[in-house]
Amino acid sequence: MQTPTASQINTKPGQSYIGRFAPSPTGPLHFGSLLAALASFLDARANQGKWLMRIEDLDPPREPAGSAELILQQLQDLGMIWDDEVLYQSTRLDAYKEIVDQLQDRDLCYPCNCTRGQVREMGRLYNGSCRKRCAPPEKPYALRLKTKALEIGFDDEIQGHFSQQLELDAGDFVICRKDGLFAYQLAVVVDDEFQNITHIVRGWDLLDSTPRQIYLQRVLNYQKISYAHIPIIVDEKGQKLSKQAFAPSIKTDRASEAIYKALTFLGQAPPTGIAKEKPESQLEWAIENWDSQAVAKVDSLPLE
Ligand code: GLU
Repeated sequence: MQTPTASQINTKPGQSYIGRFAPSPTGPLHFGSLLAALASFLDARANQGKWLMRIEDLDPPREPAGSAELILQQLQDLGMIWDDEVLYQSTRLDAYKEIVDQLQDRDLCYPCNCTRGQVREMGRLYNGSCRKRCAPPEKPYALRLKTKALEIGFDDEIQGHFSQQLELDAGDFVICRKDGLFAYQLAVVVDDEFQNITHIVRGWDLLDSTPRQIYLQRVLNYQKISYAHIPIIVDEKGQKLSKQAFAPSIKTDRASEAIYKALTFLGQAPPTGIAKEKPESQLEWAIENWDSQAVAKVDSLPLE
């Protein structure tokens, strides 16, 4: 029998595993996002879990037309088939509004009309200056969640224990942007609860967002989630591969090559014999042999 992975240990008998992949449709799937998709898919399937898909289309100006469809097609071509219907965040605006109203009624957030320049001058963190205001400023303004002097820590299944002093390390953070769009930190928490997500596997770049998300979960009385952050892929300049930086799209006419390389980067040591097999059979091997503890416990890995 195989040694259970950390997530298997965390999953109580009878408790189901629901994982997800939640790309922002800012461009096609690239090697970095493929790793996040694959790791979350394998961890879910190896734990007999569901793997849900959520398109985080909250910021239309940053989303080239057709990107969401392209990502979904790429995943299908790579043999990664999700469960249930795709959830589009653009259909969830009323739900976010309801939560924001609730937070406002509970006096847990406040309007802030500081400019980007002003916030930059404050140094690393927002200094809470708008908290003291009595009347709301003229619109437009953002809404910031009030943070407390609280240490929020969690045991990441790959990176180990991680904690932050919320007020000192994150500061009062934006839940609703000045341009009227809902912030990622708010929408991600509301939708992880809505989709009953129990396990999140995603890129290391979101590790430091996690305490903010856990705080918001606590404030909203949501269920706890288990986290695993995989290394991000960086280019020769040490920059994260990203759609914004025009990382090359995964070529699905070479799907087997992409999956094999991704498995190697995830430390799974796939046998050379499966290098040229169809993605479906590669994934079958990978689910059977998935070991989340073999993923490098580092923040980033170079592409070459
Ligand atoms: N939408 C985010 C991204 O594409 C990921 C969100 C998450 O996994 O929490 O970077």
